[in-house]
Formats: sequence, structure tokens, C-alpha cells
Amino acid sequence: METPLKMKVYNSLTRGLEPLEPMEGGTIRFYTCGPTVYNYAHIGNFRAYTFEDILRRVMQFNGMKVKQVMNLTDVDDKTIRGANAAGVKLTDYTKTYKDAFFADLKVLNIQPAEVYPAATDHIPEMISLVEKLVEKGVAYKSDDGSVYFAVTKFPGYGKLAHIDFDNQRTGARCAADEYDKENVGDFALWKAWEPSDGPVGWDSPWGRGRPGWHIECSAMSMKYLGESFDLHTGGIDNLFPHHENEIAQAEAATGKQFVRTWMHCAHLRVNGEKMSKSLGNFFTLRDLLEKGWTGREIRYVLVNAHYRQGLNFAFSALEDARKALERVDRCVDALAARAKDGEPAPDFAQAALDAFTAAVNDDLNTPKAFAALFDLVRETNASGTCSKAVLDVFRRMDSVLGVIFFGKAAKTEVPAEVQTLLDARAAARAAKNWAESDRLRDAIAAAGWTVKDSKEGQSVTKR
Ligand code: AMP
Ligand code: ZN
Repeated sequence: METPLKMKVYNSLTRGLEPLEPMEGGTIRFYTCGPTVYNYAHIGNFRAYTFEDILRRVMQFNGMKVKQVMNLTDVDDKTIRGANAAGVKLTDYTKTYKDAFFADLKVLNIQPAEVYPAATDHIPEMISLVEKLVEKGVAYKSDDGSVYFAVTKFPGYGKLAHIDFDNQRTGARCAADEYDKENVGDFALWKAWEPSDGPVGWDSPWGRGRPGWHIECSAMSMKYLGESFDLHTGGIDNLFPHHENEIAQAEAATGKQFVRTWMHCAHLRVNGEKMSKSLGNFFTLRDLLEKGWTGREIRYVLVNAHYRQGLNFAFSALEDARKALERVDRCVDALAARAKDGEPAPDFAQAALDAFTAAVNDDLNTPKAFAALFDLVRETNASGTCSKAVLDVFRRMDSVLGVIFFGKAAKTEVPAEVQTLLDARAAARAAKNWAESDRLRDAIAAAGWTVKDSKEGQSVTKR
């Protein structure tokens, strides 16, 4: 039998496949850029978070421990604009979307990170990092009281984006958090207060203001993971300028390599364009749940494509996911019903697990991993095996994929409309919205089902 490969991943920094192993001890220290909590996350965002979830699960599948930190950007241009337009405090405005985000993670069976630092809780750390950069002479205060990073003072600038900026440097400044490669320039570490910021602002050695977006991630990642850590991920749009700037800020301050491995997922697109809030071509998770799709069907679509391949969102993919999952459910349920102790494990089970392991360890090749799962389904059905060991292989595969044992409630005997109510109830409970949870319990009862809550989550039975 072929020996499963060790885990290898594509490192955007070196542009090559490399082994992924912890730098120290048995724990991978891993930072993921989290949501800007000014709106409900769309399923394009969840492509990034499900990719990171698969990555985390594959590391665990290989026996590594993971310390994952995912930040919550709760102060930036967009959150301030939203709060001031709504006439509410920034913290009240962002709380709604933070709660919604955690509820959505549960619906998509995304494992929680170990730490979720919010930017507004780490302003002193950001100020001291900016002070360090000013002391080192790589950052300077502008006339208006903002502080900028001087890209020409950091020789490695451009190493992640693989662009030689030497011929493009104009000495220009860029105040906005997001800009493209054509507009590279000194970027804002600290932004002086402006009237449009309203009540949002913190005192600093440079006057009242707020942090730039990029400094948030450098300060929070180093606080929880150390000055040098293993792995940093995000969507491909984060690579430049955000991650490039994170490297510049951290390495200019510490003189050490910031992160060894960088991984980026391709975009979820709609009709060939990136799904994004600014283009208005997005679906939130809630939109799809309301249309009757379940969390695991949506997860299936998002993780079924290789993370570095573009993925065009289409409802036909959700229909395919529903059929595929029904096939897996039927097979697994029938096997669970007939499985006996003491039955020898058939050879095909180990072969499928080896193929699965080789696939996920080869830069998270989920299409091949799903092919191994469906081989196992086919062979299980064809052989009529009664071996419990086969069930264990399904469980082992699902420890990575997270789509089969999504709770008993996800099984096919539960109609889609009841499943939608269940997913919404799980989201309401995660957000501690008990009134909504009770309302949904009644709606589920009216549809003829009884819901029970336990430590494992909710389960339903037909009345
Ligand atoms: P944001 O809230 O815009 O900062 O994005 C949060 C995460 O979602 C980042 O890692 C982005 O790179 C990622 N992201 C945003 N849009 C998409 C998309 N259409 N497809 C995949 N990832 C995305
Ligand atoms: Zn970030």
C-alpha cells in the first residue's frame, strides 16, 4: 500500500510547494484575516473561511495541533461609515455583525479559531508598534497628524507580491486602506481624526486618530503568535497590499522573518466577476438559507473546488451538492444500520483512505479527496460490507470535509424547509437570541417535527 505523503502546501511567498510543519513543538501557529464587521459576510468571504477550515482540519488530520487566530476588523473606513450613517455607536453597530458571523460559522460547520481578537481591544499594541516603526526611521508623521510607512525604507517591500517596485516609487502617499499595485506608495499606519470619523477616535502620541487596517493584523498576530510564526492565510485580494504591508510593518519592527508560509485562496465569482459587496453581486449565507439550501450543501459547494482555482457560483452546483450528499447519506445510513463488530475491514476501505490522505496532503486537493469519498461510497454499496471499520473511514474523511455527519438533523429524511428552520435556529441560538430560537421551535413543530437540544447540538424527530 502506498505510504501517504506528508502534508505539502503552495507557499505564495516562494511560489512553490513546501512541507508544512510547525517551526516549534507540535503546534502550528496560524493567522487568518477575519471579517470586517460592517455587514453580513457573503459566501465569497466564506470561501476563504471554509478554505482555512479545511486547512486547519487537514493539519489536525496529520496529528498537528493548531493555534489559529482570526481577527475581527471592527474599526476601519467601512465600519465607521456604517455606524455614523446609522447614527449608532461603533461598538453597537459592529456587534450585530460579529454575532451574525459566529452564527454563520456554526451553520457552515467551520471549527472555531482559538482566539478572535477585535481590533478595538488592541489599540495600545498598535500604537506601540507604530512608535517602534517611527523610532526605527521607517515611518514618519505627516502634516495632518497621520503616520505613514515609508516603503522605500524597507528593502524587502514587494517580496510577497513578487513585484519590483523600484521603478514605480513616486514618494506618493496612499491614505485609503485598499489600493492596487499601480498606486503603491507610503501607506497609513495611523490616521488622524477627521470630522467624518464622528465620535470614533483614540488618543495617541500623534494626536487623536485611529489605526490603519494593515497595522491591526501585524499587531494582533504578533501579540498572540509571536514575532515569527508558521502560517498566514486569506483570500487572494489580501495578498497586495494588505499582506505585503503586514510583512513590511512586522519585519521592519523586529528584524525577523514574520511568517514562513503564506496561503491564499482564489475568489468566488459570479458571472466571471469577484463576488463582493462593492459590486453588489453577492449572496449572504442567510440569503441562501432562506431559499431553502442547507449549511452543509453550501459548504459542500465551497470546499468541493480546489482552493487555488476560481469558482463560479451557480445554483446548479447546490442542486448537485444536494444529490451527492443524499447519495452519501443513504450509503452511510444503510451501512450504520447493518454494521457488525468483528467484520474484517475490506481492502477498498484502506485504499480509499490512502487516496484521500494523499489528496488532502497534496496542497489540499479537495476534488481528489471527494473522488476518494465517492469511490468508498460506490464500493460500500457494491460490496454490501458490514464492517464497522468502513464507517470509521467515512468518519475519518469527514473529520476533514465536515459534510457527512453534520448532525443527525442534516440527514435526508428531514425536508429542506425544516432543515432551513433548523439552520436558522442554530444560528439564533449561537447568537443567544432565545426568542427567535423559540419562535423557530414552534415553526418546526408546526411542520410536524420535534426539536431537542443537547451538547452535540439540536436533533429532530418526526411526530
Ligand atoms: P473582508 O471582510 O472584505 O476583509 O474579507 C474577508 C475575507 O474574505 C478575506 O480573506 C478576503 O480575501 C476574503 N474574500 C472576500 N471576497 C471574496 C471572494 N469573492 N472569494 C473568496 N474570498 C473572498
Ligand atoms: Zn489581515
